[in-house]
This record gives sequence, structure tokens and C-alpha cells, in this order.
Amino acid sequence: MTTRSEALRLILDSVAPLPPRPTPLSEALGLVLAEAVVSPETVPPFTNSAMDGYAVRAADCAGASPSSPARLDVLADLPAGTVASLAVRGGTAIRIMTGAPLPAGADAVVPVEATEGEGDRVRVEAPVRPGGNVRLAGEDVREGDELLARGVVLSPAALGVLASVGLAEVPVHPRVRVAVLTTGDELVEASSKPGPGQIRDSNIRTMCGQASVFGATPVPIPRVPDTRDAVTAALARALGEADVVVTSGGISVGDYDFVKAVLAGLGARELFWKVRQKPGGPLGFWLLDGKPVFGVPGNTVAAMVCMEEYVRPALRKMMGHARLFRPEVTAVFEGTFRKSAPDGKVHLLRVRARREGGRLVVGPSGPQGSGILTSMLRSNALALVPADATSLATGDEVTVHLLEEPEDH
Ligand code: AMP
Ligand code: MG
Repeated sequence: MTTRSEALRLILDSVAPLPPRPTPLSEALGLVLAEAVVSPETVPPFTNSAMDGYAVRAADCAGASPSSPARLDVLADLPAGTVASLAVRGGTAIRIMTGAPLPAGADAVVPVEATEGEGDRVRVEAPVRPGGNVRLAGEDVREGDELLARGVVLSPAALGVLASVGLAEVPVHPRVRVAVLTTGDELVEASSKPGPGQIRDSNIRTMCGQASVFGATPVPIPRVPDTRDAVTAALARALGEADVVVTSGGISVGDYDFVKAVLAGLGARELFWKVRQKPGGPLGFWLLDGKPVFGVPGNTVAAMVCMEEYVRPALRKMMGHARLFRPEVTAVFEGTFRKSAPDGKVHLLRVRARREGGRLVVGPSGPQGSGILTSMLRSNALALVPADATSLATGDEVTVHLLEEPEDH
């Protein structure tokens, strides 16, 4: 049996970031930039109005007030997206909308609120400083600026900045395609009525959902019967369609657990099988055709916990992220937990974490059986009971993984 940290090391040493690919901005949210981006353009590309109002020469409006307004001839109307054919001269103005290019001769914009229209003239009732309400070409970005560093996770703002300089595609590490392959003769679809001894396949939903939340693309390959041939065929299909395969069930020592035997028969390299933990003890990890294959146990909570603790960091590494892990912090336990016997395994408890004063307090979110999925609903953290501990009591310190916080290391 492998320790948790050794299993994680073996996994992470076996996977590498997927080669970068030029990707349209519309598909790049949350992906990691594989190269720094230097701006090919200047933003704004031209000096323009920051307000709806009148483009003027500031000197014409010096000292203007409601009782002593400046009166200017309005030469033209300038909506955004058009360019003035006339220049502003002394004693004149051009009506201008936000975003329209500042006409030649003008050096400021008087907001419409400080004016009063008078036919083809305008009364300006407040002064404006030179440059007032004007956005200068290049005040946001200059050609040649480094906009985004390599390794940045593309946020909505980053995508907007890239769009603003005309970079419609960027080199990013692609989303990992994760085949999720559920095994079990007893399984039927959520929409089917189970026959005697049958249950519905819930892992296909939880695991594909987790893959999506992790930023990967799930490729569902549901409900493989417990036969060698079916598992072999499904694995071949999964490897053809995905970068990573995660199988659910059929990985223990039961008579119908074929996943491990099939992988061995296909020549997969086993990095480990079985981890000193509960739930998720029978977890295994292989490399087949150069692709990572995770075998996770079928128990619903075990499957989710293995996805979270092992598959997720691997997927993040493959997608080029520098931070692979959620926060690991110390919390104060509230409640009681006792192992049924000393087993030398780390137990991962589903807990609910809350801040109380300056402390983080965690308590079990429900019964801890590895098939009790509803206790996952209320859980926002996993508490790690050490391998050599047998119980936890109120007030004990315990290490927890915060499942709803962004990665910090
Ligand atoms: P296994 O790992 O195949 O021995 O399965 C362990 C337990 O998890 C059994 O009670 C299975 O019925 C259950 N199980 C396996 N696969 C699934 C699944 N996809 N959805 C829900 N329960 C499952
Ligand atoms: Mg099974």
C-alpha cells in the first residue's frame, strides 16, 4: 500500500502540461497562457471623447458660467464610429458622443450637462481644462507593452484586454479531455427504473461534474458491464477519445473486478494500486499508451474524494496551472469520530467548515459511510484524520482541505 503523499508524487511525476494550442478567445476562459502576450496595438487607438457633449477649444470656455456663458457655433454632429471632416476653430464646437474621435482643433469636451442648446449654437456654462473629458490614444495600452505573463489564468478581464488589441487567438494549454468510464453490472441510467438488485449510476454525474468544475472536458463513457471484453473495449474507446481516463468501480478484489486485470493485460504500467486512506483505498494509477489512467473505487463518496484529491491536481498540472492544490489549513474539530479499529490509514472526513471568531471550526457533515453521497452535499471541506490516530474529539486540531476555496499552492 502506498501513502497518500507517495501516490500523489507518482501521479504528478507522470503527467506534464499538454502542448499549447492557439485557441479562440471564446474558448479560452480559465485556461493558462503558455506564452507572454505583447500588445501589437495601442488602446485606445485614437484620442476620443469620454463624455457625451461638445468638442471645444478649452480657451474658448475660460470663465464660462450660467450667468456668463460661452456661445459657440455648432459645426457638426459626431456619433461614435464616425470621424469629423471639419476641424474645431475658435468660437466653434462639434457635438460629440462618448467614444467618437476628438476632432482636429479641439482639446477638450464639455459634458452636455454643462450646456444649453440654442438652435445651431450652444451655450457653454462651465469652463473645461485642456484635456478635460478626453481619453488619449494609448492611455490604456501601448504597442509593445507586455500585457499578460506566461502562466496567467485567463480571466474575463484578460480576455477583454486581448480582444481590445485584436488578439483573437491565444496560445493556451488546452482543457484536458477526461473520459469517465463507470463499470458495474448493477448500474442503470438515472432515467431508468432499477430492476431487482440494480442501482442508478450516480458516479457518471458526480465525476463528469467534477471534471467540468476542475476546468476539464468530461467525456462520459457510461455503464460498462463487468466483463473483461466490455472493460477492454471501453478502455480502448476512452483512450481514443480522451487525454486522461478515469474508471469507476471494478478496481477492488471482487470476483467481477476486471479493471486492474484488463489494464495489466493491455500492458499498462502500474504506478500504484491501493493507498493508505479511507475512503478510496483501492485507488490505482496506470500509464497506458502514454496516457494517465486512474482507477477509482465505485463507492460514490470514494469516487468523488479520489477525483478531488488525486485527479484534480493532475488535471491542473496538465492544463499548465502553477497552483495545483486547494488550501490546506488547521481547524478545530467539533464532534466525535472514532475509527472502528486502528488501521494505519488516513481517514478523510466530510466536514462542514465555518469561521468562528478567528478560528476555523469543522464538524462532520453527515454519516461517513463511503457510499453516503448526501453527506457530500453539505460538505465544504475534507478533514484528514492522521494514519496513526484512532479518534478525534471536540477541540482537537485537524488538517483540512477547503473544497470551495481557490488553489493556493
Ligand atoms: P465497486 O468499486 O465496483 O466494488 O463498487 C463499490 C460500490 O459502489 C458498490 O456498492 C457499487 O454498487 C457502487 N457503485 C459502483 N459504481 C457506481 C456508480 N457508477 N454509481 C453509483 N454507485 C456505484
Ligand atoms: Mg463493481
